[in-house]
Amino acid sequence: MQLYQEQTLRVHNSLTGKKETFVPINEGHIGMYVCGPTVYSNVHLGNCRTFMSFDMIFRYFRHLGYKVRYVRNITDAGHLVDDAEDGEDKIAKKARLEQLEPMEVVQRYTVDFHNILEKFNFLPPSIEPTATGHIIEQIEIIKDILEKGYAYEVNGSVYFDVVKFNETNEYGKLSGRKLEDMIANTRELTAQDDKKSPQDFALWKKAEPEHIMRWPSPWGDGFPGWHLECTAMSTKYLGETFDIHGGGMDLKFPHHECEIAQAEASNGQSPVKYWMHANMLTLNGKKMAKSTGNSILPGEIFSGENNILSKPFSPPMIRFFMMQAHYASILDISNDALLASEKGFNKLMDSIKSIKSLPTGNKSDFNVKEWRQTCYDAMNDDFNTPILIAKLFDAVKHINLIKEGSETLIQDDKEMLLETMQNFVFDILGLEDKQSSSADSEKLSGVVELLIQLRKEARENKDFATSDKIRDQLAALGIQLKDGKEGTTYSL
Ligand SMILES: [Zn+2]
Repeated sequence: MQLYQEQTLRVHNSLTGKKETFVPINEGHIGMYVCGPTVYSNVHLGNCRTFMSFDMIFRYFRHLGYKVRYVRNITDAGHLVDDAEDGEDKIAKKARLEQLEPMEVVQRYTVDFHNILEKFNFLPPSIEPTATGHIIEQIEIIKDILEKGYAYEVNGSVYFDVVKFNETNEYGKLSGRKLEDMIANTRELTAQDDKKSPQDFALWKKAEPEHIMRWPSPWGDGFPGWHLECTAMSTKYLGETFDIHGGGMDLKFPHHECEIAQAEASNGQSPVKYWMHANMLTLNGKKMAKSTGNSILPGEIFSGENNILSKPFSPPMIRFFMMQAHYASILDISNDALLASEKGFNKLMDSIKSIKSLPTGNKSDFNVKEWRQTCYDAMNDDFNTPILIAKLFDAVKHINLIKEGSETLIQDDKEMLLETMQNFVFDILGLEDKQSSSADSEKLSGVVELLIQLRKEARENKDFATSDKIRDQLAALGIQLKDGKEGTTYSL
């Protein structure tokens, strides 16, 4: 008997807009595909949130006893600037600007991506395929779509014929758009355009002489369109239909809509049973954007080297913060929210550590079995991690009452409490209790704040010898003080 046979999981399906009882195509097995990063820059914190949501989902499926094949790709070709059809390839552009080989760009940022995810305690996916490693598969799908009449070739490029597809299928069903409206709202095609309709998208683009990323094909030298790689890799590793396809909300249109069209045009069937979308992360209430300075990288949060937060925050703490919001809600990150979250995180970790030494009695005032099921109920309700965390804090309250002697617990319940806490906190939420990250970090922070205060007083008394000594000795220990308008902050 597996846990999944006892627990009824409900999942919000973006395709139907409803919460549905989760039943995999093959009993006991799950195929899950998540659109991975385009490796042309350091991974964004918002992207980390999306991948972390699916890491938590992957972990919960495994905990329930499913055998999961989790495919998360690396986009290393074909993703054009602004997601436009005529822009430059993002990786080729970076390579040109930094005078690198495109594959050097890919290598550098793939390593960065893996480093950051490892710090956040991600489980590796079962397969991590790359677009450039699947050019042959992509060409085969284009040939198939051409043969079935849903694509056309012009001047060495191949485009998907959205109007033709929409005659027999429904283009826009995932994002809730109607093709007529889309056409009415887009600009007219110019004379230089190869496309028949503005909604048509590239399956294969002809490489101009200056384009450095190019492969031979039946239509001449070129490169694949961005949407195609996910259809090629998901079909290859998970089959023509599979259980879950995930990604960020911003990928719903056009990327996922185009994936559906490509798969339906070539296989004649809808590729995915449950579409799932994770929501975005804002910073101080505003969309993160490098151009406005309202942006922060994960590494800058861990080290404290940024002008937005007052101190460094550890990866498990940031993971806890992200898990305090439901994956499908917008989450806002700010200094105050992180400080409040850190208190909760430390409290939870300290509480788990104290379970082993709790006294036991001959009756239980806390119904641990019933509480454990409320934790499952939270996760079974579309992976509701904020409700789960509230349930974990119910247990923290009882742990404190038992410590005080106001409540008692029998030995069996104490064991179940410890096991359940460990399962949900470490295995499912993926948190880690790193000494440096919880209580010790709070103590360090207190000591540094005290020194900042003493230095301020010294400066006010014009005792610059002391104030410089504090700053220099902290710097020698690797702690940098930064004086700003809002006072002094520090980084490690
Ligand atoms: Zn994709």
